[in-house]
Parts: sequence; structure tokens; C-alpha cells
Amino acid sequence: MSIPCTLIPGDGIGPDITDATVRILEAAGAPFAWDRQLAGMAAVHACHNPMPDATLDSIKRTRLALKGPLETPVGEGFRSVNVALRKTFDLYANVRPAQVILPGGRFEKVDIVLVRENTEGLYAGLEHYIKIGEDEKAAAESIALITRLGSERVIRYAFEYAVAHGRKKVTLVHKANILKYSQGLFRSIGQGVAKEYEGRVAYDERIVDACAMQLVIKPEQFDVIVTTNLFGDILSDLVSGLVGGLGLAPGANIGKHAAIFEAVHGTAPDIAGQGIANPSALTLAACLMLEHVGEAAVGQRIRAAVVTTLREAKSVTRDLGGSATTGQFADAVIAKLRA
Ligand code: NAD
Repeated sequence: MSIPCTLIPGDGIGPDITDATVRILEAAGAPFAWDRQLAGMAAVHACHNPMPDATLDSIKRTRLALKGPLETPVGEGFRSVNVALRKTFDLYANVRPAQVILPGGRFEKVDIVLVRENTEGLYAGLEHYIKIGEDEKAAAESIALITRLGSERVIRYAFEYAVAHGRKKVTLVHKANILKYSQGLFRSIGQGVAKEYEGRVAYDERIVDACAMQLVIKPEQFDVIVTTNLFGDILSDLVSGLVGGLGLAPGANIGKHAAIFEAVHGTAPDIAGQGIANPSALTLAACLMLEHVGEAAVGQRIRAAVVTTLREAKSVTRDLGGSATTGQFADAVIAKLRA
């Protein structure tokens, strides 16, 4: 039985890492029937629209997508397609697991799952300029929207994730000492949800600035972290840096009606078109997708093959100190799957 899945190769290094990932998935017998679609700059070039209807219709139908990174113009230009996809499909939980894969780094035991609220906060898109006198852009305002519904569902997701994955603790990260209303609401909802899980999952809290410092000094103390949109965006890149960088960090965007899986990194314009990008993060995201569709065993096999290939360090890409191309890395993983 094949599982329909929308495949968006994306921009920059996206097509290279997507090809490598699809080859690895097919070699492992992952049961996906791909529906290839465009988004981002690739779609602007093809049909002058960064988020074509055909792509949205495909995800509505499959409710599942594997997505390469998409380019977002800085400042002017179209709004982030990534943010738009999360809002369109109400993908409220961004789940980013970070585990040490390569020994010999600064930390040996980091194993953190960061759950970021994905639809509200400062990314709600509620922004405007304020005119003062003749100056149309004398000031600008961005509203950090926090709702009870949005907070409760993502915090509950973090606790349910902890229960399902045998995790011990959820840490809620906030800035309620300064943002007493918005962050205070998120925090108080967290305290309420935590009570329901007492005895099963421990709960604690950190102020975001202190949390950033503690993550750098003693990351082993964290297990599952749940936080609002902007803090989650920043802290999840920090956490991926603790475990070997963006090239190894997968992410899942989960909603009630759809889920989109991707690498945490972007389009890597500095190495695009050279065939040297590391596809591991997208391949590990595909492993999360396999778990999501009930094919966890296939995902574990692929993950083990990726981890072994990375640890052997014979066929790794330049970001990890090797000289393999994206394709050669994929070949090495496939050889492990067939061994
Ligand atoms: P980036 O993640 O693309 O690159 C940061 C650095 O990491 C670069 O030096 C790059 O070469 C390196 N890198 C990233 N992924 C790599 C990989 N797989 N293998 C080897 N090296 C890798 O971040 P950026 O430069 O800030 O962003 C570039 C573009 O990507 C922007 O348009 C941004 O909006 C977009 N972006 C998209 C997503 C997404 O689609 N989810 C996420 C982040 C950034």
C-alpha cells in the first residue's frame, strides 16, 4: 500500500538534497507515492506565484509533505512561504529533535526535543507602519498574538509527545517577567496543562534569556522544551548548533489535518548548485515522517544507516570535514541499507 505524499524540492540546495533523500527512501522500501510540486522561488520562476494553487491542492489531498528549503526575500518582496504554509494548514507544532550524532563535539549527551508554537506570537503577521507627520514609516508595530487555544494545543502536544516517547520532563520557556500579558498567558496555561500530567511528566520553567545561557553551558539538563514562536525559532537553531550544526537538524510541522517535514536549515545559497550539500537533515526529517505515518521501523533503519555513515566519516560532505558530494553520501547510506 503506497502513501500519497507531496514532494516540494524547494530552492537552492533543495533539489540536490531532495533527490538524495528520495533515493535513500526508495532503497529502504519506504512506501511513498510522490506528488512533485513547486513552491518558493522555483514556483515564482515557473508560474509567478511562490505558493501555487496546485501545491496547496496537493497538500490538501495528501495531508503530508516533504519539503526542501524555500528562499524568502529579506525585507521587501513576498512573505515567507514557509510561514504561509504553516498558517494555511494550521501546522501549530514545530517539532525539532536534536541528538548528538557525532561523538567528539563539545557535548556527548544532548538529546533535546524542542516544540515551537508555529502559528502565533510575533509571526502572526500582524504588522503595520505608523505615520507621524509626513513620515509614512515613522514607526512600526508587530503584534505578538498569544491565544488560549493556540497555547494550550501546543503545550498539550509537548506533553503528549513526552508521554508517547518515554520522555521525563517538559520545560516551558517564556519571558513573562517582562511581557506579563502575552507571555504570562502562555505560562499560566502551561502550568494548568502540567497539572494534568503530574506523576507522569515532570514540569519546569525557564526565562528565555537564562535558558539560552543554560543550553550553552549544560544542555544535558533539558529534555522536551515548549515555547512561543520567536523564542522557538532562535533556540532551535541554538540547539542544532550544540549537536553538530544545521546540516544534521530535522524538523516536523504538525497540524490536526496535515503535516509537513523539512530540514531546519535554509537554501544555503553559498553552496547551491555545487552538489556538495549535506542531505542528512532532510533525510532525518523523512524518518520523522515515516514515524508519523506508522512506518517507524523503516525510519529507524534509515536513521541507523545515516548515523553509521556519518560516524564512519568516510563519505561525508564538506560541512563535516569530508569531500563527498551529496550523491556520494546518499550512495554510502544506500550501501549501508543493503549491507
Ligand atoms: P542557511 O541555513 O541556508 O545557511 C546557513 C549556513 O549553513 C550556510 O553557510 C550554508 O552553506 C550552511 N548549510 C545549510 N544547510 C546546509 C547543508 N544541508 N549542507 C551543508 N551546509 C549547509 O541559512 P540562510 O543563509 O540564513 O538562509 C538562506 C535562505 O534560506 C533564505 O532565503 C532563508 O529565508 C531561507 N530559509 C528557509 C528555510 C526553510 O525553508 N525552512 C529555513 C531557513 C532559511
